[in-house]
Amino acid sequence: MKFSTKAIRSGQEPEAEFGSVIPPIYQTSTYVQKSPGEYNGYDYTRAGNPNFTNLEKTLASLEEASFATVFSSGLGALTGLVSILVAGDKVVAVDDIYGGTYRLFTKIFNKFGINLELIDMQDLDKVEQSLSQKTKMVIIESPTNPLLKVIDIKKVTGLAKKYKVLSVVDNTFASPYFQNPIALGADIVWHSTTKYISGHSDAIGGVIITNDKKIKEQMDFARMALGLNPSPFDTWLTSKSLKTLAVRMDQHQKNAFAVANFFASHPKVKKVYYPGLSSHKNYEVAKTQMKGYSGIVTVDFNLSLNEVKKLISSFKIFLLAESLGGVESLVNHPGIMTHASIPKEEREKKGISDSLVRFSIGIEDTDDLLEDLKATLER
Ligand SMILES: *Cc1c(COP(=O)(O)O)cnc(C)c1O
Repeated sequence: MKFSTKAIRSGQEPEAEFGSVIPPIYQTSTYVQKSPGEYNGYDYTRAGNPNFTNLEKTLASLEEASFATVFSSGLGALTGLVSILVAGDKVVAVDDIYGGTYRLFTKIFNKFGINLELIDMQDLDKVEQSLSQKTKMVIIESPTNPLLKVIDIKKVTGLAKKYKVLSVVDNTFASPYFQNPIALGADIVWHSTTKYISGHSDAIGGVIITNDKKIKEQMDFARMALGLNPSPFDTWLTSKSLKTLAVRMDQHQKNAFAVANFFASHPKVKKVYYPGLSSHKNYEVAKTQMKGYSGIVTVDFNLSLNEVKKLISSFKIFLLAESLGGVESLVNHPGIMTHASIPKEEREKKGISDSLVRFSIGIEDTDDLLEDLKATLER
């Protein structure tokens, strides 16, 4: 089956008793046992639930992999993953990693002896050097947030294999529709399903996807032992949303191209970041490993901080909010909002200036979005 068919049918069998086309929400904490220890797959929802299993089957098939384990959130999934490491292990990650990932390693896991090293993954010599030094796990994020750097997944995971380092790709920004990291050589795909996969800004969730049966067992164990389970309702909502992922992503991309092209020729714009533009510095890598360029556009304006603040608070359609990947267009100031935990000096070194704005382009009418941007900038 192809993508959209799998998104609609994989793991989503009609319910057997009444033929309900949509699987019901199994909103239960526990399950009746026939005799002590004898039960039909599920004993307690922290350990498992049919709604988790349904969503796991869909997500694994969309990433062309065998196994998935869903979690309470993207960071819940990362917590489960890191629980397979031991004190003294080193993790290498891309230098502009998602802020929450950075915070989890530097405020929590470091207390348990797990060390994080951030490197520029565009420099493959640096990657090889880091991977050869007792590294257990490498975390690639591509495209990155908010500068949309694209990392060569095939090359970095190839080096990881050479040094027997577990490779993980945070595929949240591309979604499984536009990028399949396991096919590019990754051991593990990680998503915050909160973003494009849920797509309607109404559920929080995460997933770890792999072809390795042992890792799948470790993830199921971690979820149960650490209490990292999602709710049956959130996983049901996510399954419902996933059915329209393909049509949503096509429209996100169509609108994002229109917005990126609009900004590219606007006099108040210093620089536009969108991996689908041939002017993007990683365009060639993006073109070979992605099937599309998703819906995030980042813009560096020719405006003062106060002007930028005024601009992004004045749109009619673009809502000023954190998060991304929903049907509604959002605008975010990384320096003040999503990336505020990074010290200003370090932020500016990375290119996250006070005039940088990240747009999550929704699936509204293209003309309405362009008109909102144009009119607000004029005002
Ligand atoms: C949101 C996000 C996460 C964390 O996911 P939560 O569901 O918010 O815990 C991780 N990585 C990326 C790239 C994200 O955008």
